[in-house]
Amino acid sequence: MVMNKRDFLKSSGALVAGSMISQFSPAQKQPVPRENWAGNITYSTGNVHTPATTDAVRDVVKQCDKLRALGSRHSFNRIADSTQNQISLVDLNQIEIDDSARTVTVGAGVKYGQLAPVIDARGFALHNLASLPHITVAGAIATATHGSGLHNGNLATVVRALELVNANGDLVHLARDKDGDAFLGAVVGLGSVGIVTRVTLDMQPTYQVGQTVYQDLSFDQLEHNLDSIFGAAYSVSLFTDWQHHRATQVWIKRRLAPGENHQWAAEFYGAKRATEKLHPVTGHSAESCTEQMGIPGPWYERLPHFKMGFTPSSGRELQTEYLLPREHGYQAIMAVEKLKDRITPHLFVTELRTIAADNLWMSTAYQRDSLAIHFTWKPEWDVVKQILPQVEAQLKPFAPRPHWAKLFTVPPQQLQAEYARLGDFKTLLQRHDPGGKFRNEFIDMNLYAV
Ligand SMILES: Cc1cc2nc3c(=O)[nH]c(=O)nc-3n(C[C@H](O)[C@H](O)[C@H](O)COP(=O)(O)OP(=O)(O)OC[C@H]3O[C@@H](n4cnc5c(N)ncnc54)[C@H](O)[C@@H]3O)c2cc1C
Repeated sequence: MVMNKRDFLKSSGALVAGSMISQFSPAQKQPVPRENWAGNITYSTGNVHTPATTDAVRDVVKQCDKLRALGSRHSFNRIADSTQNQISLVDLNQIEIDDSARTVTVGAGVKYGQLAPVIDARGFALHNLASLPHITVAGAIATATHGSGLHNGNLATVVRALELVNANGDLVHLARDKDGDAFLGAVVGLGSVGIVTRVTLDMQPTYQVGQTVYQDLSFDQLEHNLDSIFGAAYSVSLFTDWQHHRATQVWIKRRLAPGENHQWAAEFYGAKRATEKLHPVTGHSAESCTEQMGIPGPWYERLPHFKMGFTPSSGRELQTEYLLPREHGYQAIMAVEKLKDRITPHLFVTELRTIAADNLWMSTAYQRDSLAIHFTWKPEWDVVKQILPQVEAQLKPFAPRPHWAKLFTVPPQQLQAEYARLGDFKTLLQRHDPGGKFRNEFIDMNLYAV
């Protein structure tokens, strides 16, 4: 079963019945790369298991002393790393729609970019997506991955049920309606509760979205209008390079009624409507970006910033993000702005988004409506790792929670203090994984170091 450095199984992947849909074409056999997507992490093991069935996942779990699940490798830190074994669920790629329950159940290898057109064709949609569709559902929910929207919870908030393999190799089913705390603790599981094999998500009727970009919104507008600006449409993102006290771009994603052709205003809080399609990073080609200029289109071709089939964002880059209470959003932005001349030379772009509060124990938006301050850095870790403590010191008064999948230097004790249910989470890990099979250095350091 160990697929170390040799060809892998074909990922044929059936879409399962009940309410069956279609079938993926077989993918080329390819070894799982030993670097993350950004290339800033080389994984610490050559042992990658690629089981093709849930029973085979159980066998792998039973055989390994130490094991970490690997999604599509889009995290920027060592959260997915292992010094002994990784398991890729790429071959668990079934998609099963239940029309009457309005849910979809996906194998852990399924990416949002594969799932979205399938459910859309069936008349359904998800509530939100991240900036890119290239990531797996299982990997995204494990780290509380989010999009934007005052009333949109992160992607894990629409998880209705999980199937996972615990450290004994037993199959565990957890459902929102039946399992209460055991479910709320396991969804944002940081890869440590078990190897997730299937995820069931809530769907809603499909919808159209129009996206328009405005340029140059003064930060002065945020002082009294932050909620109105971020609440002006279904999903709103601001981009900045921190220079000139302004957002260089405002991306507005408006949910449209069927047949609606929204008349976009020429100005938005003083920002001017763009006259051409733009990439968030000045000077980058907008070809990789989703359609703009207000042209209506399906939800999954507008909610992400980047198109499937293209390199999202910049490519070689580093990412950092902090979530903090939205009510302190303006003060937090002003605190970071003080470092603008330190930050800008090493930055591709910063993005500001909002995320609705939730009840998932390890979620970065746990019980607080949040503003997220994100940094896409140039691949200059030697410098960036010196800037991060400065940014974190500026944000400390606002109790920032770093994105679990991005780069940060927040000390473990400070991080742990931000999670009121951390003790309960550790009890949950003890129940599913008493011997620490699914723990790695990242988890030991950030959750357990005192
Ligand atoms: C260009 C780019 C843009 C991004 N944009 C956004 C954004 O808009 N919003 C945002 O919030 N984040 C964003 N991210 C971060 C990204 O969403 C997270 O890194 C996410 O976790 C990636 O999912 P993945 O499938 O690549 O998982 P991986 O990075 O491979 O793994 C992440 C974690 O999930 C765990 N995991 C994966 N599969 C399983 C499984 N089957 N069972 C148990 N645990 C599992 C792993 O063990 C690991 O702990 C972006 C990243 C990139 C590179």
